[in-house]
Amino acid sequence: MQTEFDHIVVGGGSAGCAVAARLAEQPGARVCVIEAGPSDRDIRVKVPFGLVNLLGSDRRNWKRKTVPMAAAGGREVSVPRGRMLGGSGSINSMVWFRGTRADFDAWGLPGWDADTVWAAYEDVEARMTPARLPHPHPLSEAFGAMFAANDPHAPPTPERESAGVFHTNMRNGARWSAADGFLRPSGARVITNAEVDHVTFEGTRATGVTLRDGRRLMARAGVILSAGSIESPMILMRSGIGPADDLRAAGIAVRIDATGVGANLHDHPGFGLHFKGQGSGYGLTLAQLPAWALSPFQWLLMRSGRLASNTVEAGAFYALDHNAAPQVQTHFLPFLMGWQGRAIIWGSGYFADVCLCQPRSRGRLRIGVDRDTPLIDLNLFGEAKDLDDMVRGVEKLRGLLAKTDFKGRRAPEAFPGADVTGDALRETIRTRAGTAYHPVGTVALGGPLDATGAVRGAQNLWVADASVMPRITTANTNAPSMMIGWQIGGFVANAARPDQRNIA
Ligand SMILES: Cc1cc2nc3c(=O)[nH]c(=O)nc-3n(C[C@H](O)[C@H](O)[C@H](O)COP(=O)(O)OP(=O)(O)OC[C@H]3O[C@@H](n4cnc5c(N)ncnc54)[C@H](O)[C@@H]3O)c2cc1C
Repeated sequence: MQTEFDHIVVGGGSAGCAVAARLAEQPGARVCVIEAGPSDRDIRVKVPFGLVNLLGSDRRNWKRKTVPMAAAGGREVSVPRGRMLGGSGSINSMVWFRGTRADFDAWGLPGWDADTVWAAYEDVEARMTPARLPHPHPLSEAFGAMFAANDPHAPPTPERESAGVFHTNMRNGARWSAADGFLRPSGARVITNAEVDHVTFEGTRATGVTLRDGRRLMARAGVILSAGSIESPMILMRSGIGPADDLRAAGIAVRIDATGVGANLHDHPGFGLHFKGQGSGYGLTLAQLPAWALSPFQWLLMRSGRLASNTVEAGAFYALDHNAAPQVQTHFLPFLMGWQGRAIIWGSGYFADVCLCQPRSRGRLRIGVDRDTPLIDLNLFGEAKDLDDMVRGVEKLRGLLAKTDFKGRRAPEAFPGADVTGDALRETIRTRAGTAYHPVGTVALGGPLDATGAVRGAQNLWVADASVMPRITTANTNAPSMMIGWQIGGFVANAARPDQRNIA
């Protein structure tokens, strides 16, 4: 096995694939991507509806959990993360959003202003070709037409109040992940089923990585951590870069005391309303059994039918305060989902959630004393205003749904139930809400990283994934993660050329 490269990219997920593709553009570049999980060659990855099954997979999902969170009723909340080529982008719903221009301007970092980021998205979208979901359910079309003022054929945008059928990164009815759009065409070397334990150093210069099985790989020009918001800070900490007290408690020699590693953890909190009634959305009913039985053939022959649904088909953005920019995102799924522990139950219906676009609460990820377990504290509702806004969001969503023309497919609210309002609603949200599965911020640009993604105090070491976001974007985080990978990949390529070191 070849063990020496110019650059090693740790993690073949949404961002890592983009980093590798950008680096591999350099003539003669020897780039290697190391992925802990297997390849993404699995029919459940390609079939959009397959994500429902993948979420239960022990092999392709890290299945992380938070610690019990005091302000959220002492609960642990699940933190699914993709574990294969394509990363979380191989188990996600493929909903495509850039975020808002103001998101990036607010970062206030050189090289990340909205104009520069928007130009980078053009490169990313040339490869990912996001487009409107081709065969939405009539309920999704109806939901997308809820605001009379906006064009029902345009996608919703977080820039203003809007609703619509989502754009997704699917091609020909199948998932098109960053592994398809970036990694495979790049020619980068890929090693799967290889989990990185830590980065190796000479002094403060990163020289390569050591795998869990003890193998060592060398990187002449540097290592880029793209293992995601949970695992990138864990690798840094196992490499001696993190809060000194936590490292010592885990028996790890301190290389750089960086309290910012693991700090600033946040996600979009989310709470869903479930609607159940005959003849509404997709679900398990006797009447729908023939359609389910036909659906594999429909997908294989025509790439249509219910298996071609990414489940999260439509959505909306709206404000809670007068004249404000959107504060809430709703995802609309024309599927009946269980709300009592089981994902699939008998009946038909639909689901709509309330996710806060810019939560105030910040948590922290710490390394356990066993040095392997991430102690993930999202501190959900640590700031009471987040819970207040969730309650207001549900009230607003109920009003919007009441006015939506679902025709004969409208169903009553089964959970939590239309009569659950006021303090009872607040308590239900506090004790039942989860997240949109968008953790970010644990190795932030401008914190432990400089604006190019380089780890402060080290040489030849960068981080490029969702963990680098100083503040979460105002919508889903997959496209921003790819853009981040693409941009930092460019910075890393420039760093290898002394004449091009242009951003501090
Ligand atoms: C169920 C779900 C649904 C989602 N839906 C959407 C959506 O519809 N739209 C959207 O925009 N966003 C969505 N997201 C979020 C989005 O997918 C993520 O924000 C994005 O994929 C993060 O990219 P990343 O590169 O930071 O991490 P990832 O894509 O998670 O990549 C990290 C990679 O690193 C690998 N890795 C980790 N540790 C190691 C190690 N030690 N050694 C080697 N490799 C390692 C992992 O296996 C993984 O492949 C969803 C997420 C989930 C989980």
